[in-house]
Amino acid sequence: MIQLSDRVKNICPSQTLAITSQVLKMRAEGKKIISFGAGEPDFDTPTNIREEAIKAIKSGFTHYTTDSGIPELKNAVIDKLKRDQGLSYHAKQILISNGAKHSLYNALMALCNPGDEVLLPTPCWVSYTEQIKLAQAKPVFIETKQENQFELTAELVQKSITDRTKILLLNTPNNPTGAVYNPEELKKIAEILVKKDIYCISDEIYEKLVYDDAEHVSIASFGPEIKEKVILINGMSKSYAMTGWRIGYTAGPEEIIFGMSKLQGHCTSNANSIAQKASVEGLEGNQDSIESMRTEFDRRRRFMVQALSQIKGFQCDMPKGAFYAFPNITQLFNSGLTLNKKEIKSSLELADFILSKAEVAVVPGVAFEAEGYLRLSYATSMPQIEEGMKRLEKLFQ
Ligand code: PMP
Ligand code: GLU
Repeated sequence: MIQLSDRVKNICPSQTLAITSQVLKMRAEGKKIISFGAGEPDFDTPTNIREEAIKAIKSGFTHYTTDSGIPELKNAVIDKLKRDQGLSYHAKQILISNGAKHSLYNALMALCNPGDEVLLPTPCWVSYTEQIKLAQAKPVFIETKQENQFELTAELVQKSITDRTKILLLNTPNNPTGAVYNPEELKKIAEILVKKDIYCISDEIYEKLVYDDAEHVSIASFGPEIKEKVILINGMSKSYAMTGWRIGYTAGPEEIIFGMSKLQGHCTSNANSIAQKASVEGLEGNQDSIESMRTEFDRRRRFMVQALSQIKGFQCDMPKGAFYAFPNITQLFNSGLTLNKKEIKSSLELADFILSKAEVAVVPGVAFEAEGYLRLSYATSMPQIEEGMKRLEKLFQ
């Protein structure tokens, strides 16, 4: 009998990635699945970025790099943070990793001791809870509410702090809710963190995807005291449609970055050399593609939310950021819908029902610590969205 570690036994597989695998398998069986599952831009990486990668290969830039990242990319990150957030960092405060997921894992592993508490506003992205557990810390959920647009408030943070609180894990713009936190509230949260000596891991990977009058403000930008407490994480996947390239980055206090680099040095070494070169072009080259992708996401957002709002049993607010719709579907529980003669009573059962009856993949809210919701990614083409909405309308008419 195989004896796995308790560490691995205690975590669940990534439900977003599991849905991607299931969709690929069903498509290989010839099924015409519409996927609103994993959140990944459908656009190809912009040509200028791809060309830089080809140049890097042709010029033989194919060896190990410094494990913390090539100087040009660290400089490009420094320039970006100055340009977009008005934040000043030096090279020893930057670490390049294999995707923002890896940056987050490094940060939690570098900071947490057994029993430390990490405040985690919910609904939250699937990997946070499991990464906190892997770091032997304890996730302490702070429930944000639909009636408050899923915004985190200083009051909620204050109420959740104990003597063991070490970190607040923030994610704005938010996956899965699309909430973009109000800068005034963020400032109040920053004041509490400084006062209570609590770190903030700030996952800003959706920063470029904000709509209408929403504005992304980094919590690190509220002065030098909070900046010293913030581990700012971002990456190339969402803004530059570079999910497969696996580049994420962290900016933060030098000692924390050094701790994270030590860990990375033993686990993965440097991020891919070619992807690092391409990312320099991403951050420093022409930025027009970001805006054209954002405009297209905005068009799809409006269409999908409008269409979902017309579907019986779906109640969907307009999200301000990221690329997910997050309808409330509690009306559909115990409403007579059945799958394999069993009444639908949960988001997981409803997601299974939708996949088997309409061949549309969605992620159940429970994956994000939020029962009663579904997440639908609109980072897929308009014809796919139109077809998916038609199928849902028909299924629930
Ligand atoms: N944070 C959030 C909130 C995400 O949705 C994702 C998407 N996978 C990531 C981090 C990680 O992105 P990546 O590892 O592709 O950089
Ligand atoms: N961030 C995306 C999502 O939430 C990609 C999949 C993942 O890494 O979890 O669907």
